[in-house]
Order: sequence, then structure tokens, then C-alpha cells
Amino acid sequence: MRLILLGPPGAGKGTQAKMLDEKFRRPQVSTGNILRKSIQNGTEIGNRAKIFMDAGKLVPDDVVIGLIKERIVEEDCRAGFILDGFPRTIVQAERLTETLDEMDLSIDAVVDIEVEGEELLGRLTGRSTCIDCGAMFHEMSRPPLKASVCDSCEGELCQREDDKEDTIKKRLEVYEKETAPLKEYYRKQGNLKTVQGSGSVEDIFSRVCAVVS
Ligand code: AMP
Repeated sequence: MRLILLGPPGAGKGTQAKMLDEKFRRPQVSTGNILRKSIQNGTEIGNRAKIFMDAGKLVPDDVVIGLIKERIVEEDCRAGFILDGFPRTIVQAERLTETLDEMDLSIDAVVDIEVEGEELLGRLTGRSTCIDCGAMFHEMSRPPLKASVCDSCEGELCQREDDKEDTIKKRLEVYEKETAPLKEYYRKQGNLKTVQGSGSVEDIFSRVCAVVS
């Protein structure tokens, strides 16, 4: 199973990818999480990426393509993976197709999670993320059991720098301009599946499972 989760920031890609990972035992591969870990570890890539991320912009294609190429050849990705937040540009999608072609592999489905712009803003403000495992919480819809502590791994919860209102607006603009055209790219390839991203996390997950299994 090789999947791509598409959708604007706040659509719930990370949450759904984590649930798919647990159900199908295929790793969630999130470029956002990889980049945040690099920032935390103070690596050169992390320091370079942070400037773009804090501004709500995309990290340059060559950086994220390099990270993905390294990640998907790891042992745990052999039987498949769930891409969360990659690709985000047509160039990234083309390079992914080329890389998989070289490995004689292909993507089974691209799941686009659709959510209205208004709702996205509310979902992203008030969100907190675990520094260690990437699990996400929300002060209204999914508060952690203990304040600032992750329910899954007891890591520390933080508000992401890029979950502040101005940066969120920028990220939504960037999504429309750079990432939304991927829907057409994958529709033409015949593997785009669209699911409604409203309702409970479990409802959305049932819809996602229905189109991937
Ligand atoms: P995410 O956790 O997926 O919302 O990503 C957070 C931020 O990381 C994005 O706003 C971008 O700055 C950066 N990022 C993550 N994935 C990519 C990607 N595929 N291409 C470029 N930038 C990315």
C-alpha cells in the first residue's frame, strides 16, 4: 500500500495518516515531522528549513525531495508508506513519480481530504502538537487528558510557530497556489480519491478506509 494524503493545512492529514499507519502497519511519512525533528536536532537542513516554515512558505523542492528519497528506501517502507504533506508542488510530484518508476513501484491511491477554508482557520488556531511523536490535539475538539502532555507518548505539547493566525493565512494561500493543482495532476493519472473532511475523526477515517481498501 502506497498512499498520498492531499488536502489543505488543517484538513487532518496527519491524524488520518497516523490512524492508517496503526491500522495497516505502513509508516506515516510526514515531511513536516521530519523537518521539525531536523530543527529540533539543530541540523543544517533544519536551520535552513525553519526560516521558510516559520514564514508559512514551502521549503525548497530540492530539500524535501532529498529527504523523501532517503526515507522511502528505508526498510520499514519496503511494503508501503503513507505520504503526509508530500508532494506539495508539481515538481515534487513529478520527481516522486520518477523515483518510484526507477524502483518499479507506483502510488496506489491519492486521497484528497476536502475541508472549507473558514473551518480550517478554526481548526489550526488552538491546535497543539507533540514534539516527540507528532500527535495533534485541539483545545476545543480534542483536548489532551493532561495539559501540555501528549496522551500517546507523554511528550511535551507545543503550539507550532506556523499555527499562528498570520502564518496560517499564508499557508492557506500557498496551498491554493502550489498544492491544489496536484489534484488535477493525480486526477489525470486516474488515482485521485476525494473524501469529505468534515465530521468526527472516526467518520473521516471510515471514508478514507473505504477508498483505499
Ligand atoms: P506540515 O506539518 O505538513 O503542515 O508542514 C509544515 C511546514 O513544513 C510547511 O508549511 C512547509 O513549510 C514545510 N513542508 C512540509 N512538507 C513540505 C513539502 N513537501 N514541501 C515544502 N515544504 C514542506
